Amino acid sequence: MTNTYENAKAIGYADLLEKIKAAGLEDYGLCREALADKIYAACAKEGDAYVHAGLNNADIDGALLALLKDSPDQVLSGIAVAGMLVGAAAKFLYLPEWEKELTEEIRPKAEEYKIVVVNDIINVRESEGDLLLHLAAAKDLADLVDGTYEAGHYVVLAGEAPKKVAPETKVTDLVSAEGAKAYYLGYQYYTPEEAASLTAADATNGVIRVLTEKDCIVAETAKILLKDRAASCGRCVFCREGLIQLEYMQKEITQARGKSNFADLTKEIGEAMCYNTLCTVGQVSAKIALSAFEKFGGEFDAHIKKNKCPAGVCGAFVHIYIDPNACTGCCECADVCPKDCIEGKSKFIHMIDEFECDKCGKCIEACGDEAIILTSGKLPKLPSRLTKVGKFKKH
Ligand code: SF4
Ligand code: SF4
Ligand code: SF4
Repeated sequence: MTNTYENAKAIGYADLLEKIKAAGLEDYGLCREALADKIYAACAKEGDAYVHAGLNNADIDGALLALLKDSPDQVLSGIAVAGMLVGAAAKFLYLPEWEKELTEEIRPKAEEYKIVVVNDIINVRESEGDLLLHLAAAKDLADLVDGTYEAGHYVVLAGEAPKKVAPETKVTDLVSAEGAKAYYLGYQYYTPEEAASLTAADATNGVIRVLTEKDCIVAETAKILLKDRAASCGRCVFCREGLIQLEYMQKEITQARGKSNFADLTKEIGEAMCYNTLCTVGQVSAKIALSAFEKFGGEFDAHIKKNKCPAGVCGAFVHIYIDPNACTGCCECADVCPKDCIEGKSKFIHMIDEFECDKCGKCIEACGDEAIILTSGKLPKLPSRLTKVGKFKKH
């Protein structure tokens, strides 16, 4: 346990609030409100006020949990100090359901600070009037009390640890723009042109990701929506049902069953979700799907109308074949195929039965002649029966 709480008491309520205001401390989230204002609002609540600390409900990647893992005492003492300022009847720390190990690790330490640890998202409706506090803001508060606070905004880049940068730092100065097809930050996609004017402060959840030509926007969106579905508590009909529909449509598109009305349906459902859901899970997941369709419509058209995944990621659109002009008939591929779906014999051009093939890629690794090709484009003319090496004619 650190001395932070005692230091805060020594500073005193009024002086500490002045310090928070002077430092410009803000909470993390979709609307970055001044922390001092949020504390005043909770103090004005009629009846008991509580502190609910955690990530934003929509932070499904949990990137900023690293702050709690790396500096548990700072984060916990920040929550305790916030509780003191609000005169909280109780303080809660919310951790995602999947972080059971971290929960067990943190619980004994949290008890020292009289903080109750819960594996859930924050119930925004029931906590109306209380202080909702992001973990990053809790750490900032503890650092401020201890005199170690450094102004800045936490960002998490490609699996790195969170680091603080000036909020006005350009996103393109933080990540390489080389090969960038899309930027994912602040729970939505941006085009490279838009990203040129974005700053670190736009990454409301700290995460900045660059997607390249090798990433499929549809498949990525489907993955994010699946995680959102798992995070949803299901209390709002629009979040519960909307997420099922949005995720279903993205998945259908990745499996070559997309329909031309999916863009309109996504718009209709997504916009309704933005205005009819209680917390960030419903609002933000709608933004992901809406921005995907709006800004990368060409990629959706390629899947739905041209039967093609431009990134070559969606298995339903990917073909595998043996180039009849490159195959030397060495049999190496057939020997490693777990599905036994490569036909051929020594000195004959080999052929893959695509119906049986699960595209595991083992034959590609085994072929020393680079004759086995994975493509999301059209298949070229291939032999229809066993043909001797060098005897295949296109016409
Ligand atoms: S938006 Fe979703 S996660 Fe948030 S309260 Fe409503 S149902 Fe629950
Ligand atoms: S390993 Fe390559 S060269 Fe050898 S038979 Fe298979 S495809 Fe042809
Ligand atoms: S990708 Fe896998 S299953 Fe398909 S032909 Fe090659 S080794 Fe066999």
